[in-house]
Amino acid sequence: MGAQVIDGKAFASGIREQIATQVNQLKSAHNITPGLAVVLVGEDPASEVYVRSKGKQTAEAGMKSVEHRLDADTDQQTLMALIDNLNNDASIHGILVQLPLPDHLDETAVINAITPEKDVDGFHISNVGLLGTGQKSMVPCTPLGCLMMLRDTLGSLSGCHAVVVGRSNIVGKPMAQLLLNDNCTVTMVHSKTRNIEDVVKTADIVIAAVGRAETVKASWIKQGACIIDVGINRIASKDGKSRIIGDVDFDACQQIAGAITPVPGGVGPMTIACLLANTLTACCRIHGLEDPKGLTA
Ligand code: NDP
Repeated sequence: MGAQVIDGKAFASGIREQIATQVNQLKSAHNITPGLAVVLVGEDPASEVYVRSKGKQTAEAGMKSVEHRLDADTDQQTLMALIDNLNNDASIHGILVQLPLPDHLDETAVINAITPEKDVDGFHISNVGLLGTGQKSMVPCTPLGCLMMLRDTLGSLSGCHAVVVGRSNIVGKPMAQLLLNDNCTVTMVHSKTRNIEDVVKTADIVIAAVGRAETVKASWIKQGACIIDVGINRIASKDGKSRIIGDVDFDACQQIAGAITPVPGGVGPMTIACLLANTLTACCRIHGLEDPKGLTA
């Protein structure tokens, strides 16, 4: 018997419904509409698709959706001026700058120019510090989505040994912090880790955020472990087209794991759902209201 396959698409759809309901309540009780502004610099096709999808889902949840598309040669000053305008726009509660930015722009400066309360990506240095010290913060969307799926699948995570494969600032590190805050025993492994297979084999929870197709093998997995695959790797398929696979060898690991997310249809849909959740959370906090139910870390 194979592992339970965690349906991220269905789970994300349920989260978006919860968000739409709470947005409606916010409108009727307080006459407030949450607003999300997405800033895209240049014409990267993958980013274009992602931004369109974000805009559509934001509007479907009943929120205000604003897109700012800037030319690839936009200078730092112009971008910073736009961020400043959005920081001061009372109808906007979430600001997301689509990354990566063109090379000539200072990404760190741009992220840290966003007012932390509107930083729905959770990348501002203040939010990183707040999360790292266990305080209320805006939490990066992908790790937040992973956490929600883990809680839904396993219930309490307390005492579980979680191994996070990958230590990036956007996925691995905040993921480890969230798991620690949920009372897991956390180990982080990376490209320089010795005997990585032996370490991962002790995990009750495995988070794979490597960016290399099928790095995590069945021989790395303890019987019954829960695997969350964050990876998005585009590979050529036999028919000449391309397809997306994860960082985990899904077919083999499914035979051993207790639960596993597929790629596509696992973590991916949860990332945008959590962006909407963060926008609603930011809106509530800015207006001095309670956090939305079931949508925060
Ligand atoms: P990064 O490239 O920033 O980080 C990858 C990490 O994996 C690094 O810490 C690196 O170690 C580690 N690593 C690389 N090779 C190995 C190896 N052989 N064994 C162990 N560790 C290794 O990637 P991101 O964290 O940004 O993204 C990871 C994946 O998740 C990508 O496929 C990305 O596309 C996907 N992603 C998916 C999202 C979604 O919405 N589903 C959102 C964000 C990312 P070291 O630090 O030593 O170099």
